[in-house]
Amino acid sequence: MTTPPFDTRAQDIIIVGGGMVGGVLAHALQAEGWRVTILEGAAAGASLSFDHRLTALSDASWRYFDALNLLDETTVRAAQAIEEVRVVNARNFGMTRITRANNDGAALGQVIANRAIGAAIERAEQAHQTVFETAQKTGTVQRLQPARYINHQVLADDPQSGSVQVHFDFHGQTHQLNARLIIAADGAASSVRTASQKPVETKAYGQTAIVCTAKPVQPHHGVAFECFTKSGPLAVLPAPAGRVSLVWVNRDADITALMALDEAAYAAKLDTAFRHRLGGFSELTPRHAYPLALITLEELTAERLVILGNAAHALHPVAGQGFNLCLRDVRDLVAALRSDRGEPVDPGDAMRLRRYVEGRLDDYRRTIGLTDQLVRGFSLDIPGAGAIRGALLSLTDGLAPIKNRLVRLTRGI
Ligand SMILES: Cc1cc2nc3c(=O)[nH]c(=O)nc-3n(C[C@H](O)[C@H](O)[C@H](O)COP(=O)(O)OP(=O)(O)OC[C@H]3O[C@@H](n4cnc5c(N)ncnc54)[C@H](O)[C@@H]3O)c2cc1C
Repeated sequence: MTTPPFDTRAQDIIIVGGGMVGGVLAHALQAEGWRVTILEGAAAGASLSFDHRLTALSDASWRYFDALNLLDETTVRAAQAIEEVRVVNARNFGMTRITRANNDGAALGQVIANRAIGAAIERAEQAHQTVFETAQKTGTVQRLQPARYINHQVLADDPQSGSVQVHFDFHGQTHQLNARLIIAADGAASSVRTASQKPVETKAYGQTAIVCTAKPVQPHHGVAFECFTKSGPLAVLPAPAGRVSLVWVNRDADITALMALDEAAYAAKLDTAFRHRLGGFSELTPRHAYPLALITLEELTAERLVILGNAAHALHPVAGQGFNLCLRDVRDLVAALRSDRGEPVDPGDAMRLRRYVEGRLDDYRRTIGLTDQLVRGFSLDIPGAGAIRGALLSLTDGLAPIKNRLVRLTRGI
């Protein structure tokens, strides 16, 4: 097999992983004038990032997409606005409600298929495609796919020939490409992270999310539910075309049996767990299971390397925060690499990378901490725990400081 030609000149930045995070990041960096190459391991259309899931984007993330010119008519049409968020306790009383009024009258966010996000990124990449033979020192994105990262090594610093050399497999042949910075956006099982020998902390939750979409009997009216059932949280998210996205977290031990149920039996289980709030579900799509763990790491940079997105932090999906947190990584890294007074910037400059990481730590602590607390607090299965959760939710609705934290988390600020 012959390898398709590609621009072998030194790049400013090589991003490993062209999924949700790598794709948006490349687009944002290109818009700032950087010459970027994405190495995406999966074949075109096969990245697991852009699978059958839908993602709840906070209002802030949606606005960021807009600022990046990723919201063309097709993408906007593919999204469903979140009018209200209700956090409810399935078995007992208690509810916390977040409405447009908590977000200055604006929708709280949007629910959109991961595939639609992938398609938006692809359209943006095509629109900016520059024939590499004529490319000047203006922002470009070159996507090599399927191109699997093998390893990288730091070279003596040289702005012309690049300072880091990345080896990868492209169409069955090993190649190398130089750049001044390598970014790991290759997901929770990051090969770049492993090759860099960064210690990782993994906490398995003993829970798995089962994901599908369905048609509810009653209209969803744009309401997103986070419902704490006995086995784990059930997210019922409003989706386009009157459908809902269902993410039901259950104990690992129960997953095989739940996955084996036929469509009608699983729909009935969901309806019971959800206390018939939308009158039942039909037309379910096939279910897919995602084992859940919290993955974090202390060191997010090394010489001429940054780790971000799920490669840096993979969260429980309970509060729908994973990708929203990743987008704030993207936004802040792009800002950290921006030239202040028009002077040339070395994108691998250690000081800038350190400043970027230091600026992210507070957000990580807040978002990862609150998500983890929600999982643990609402996964307790001791006598009386349901009543405690109900009381907590009612209390939260009345207690401004706690509710404000939830509102901030929902708005993504
Ligand atoms: C069930 C579930 C529901 C979720 N719902 C939400 C939600 O509603 N809202 C929200 O904000 N977040 C949500 N998330 C989190 C969100 O999906 C992730 O944060 C997001 O996918 C992270 O994107 P990423 O690009 O960092 O990683 P990934 O999506 O894992 O993408 C990594 C990419 O890197 C590529 N790759 C891997 N290895 C290599 C290699 N060696 N060489 C080259 N390429 C490689 C892969 O092919 C892939 O394309 C959810 C997660 C789950 C599991």
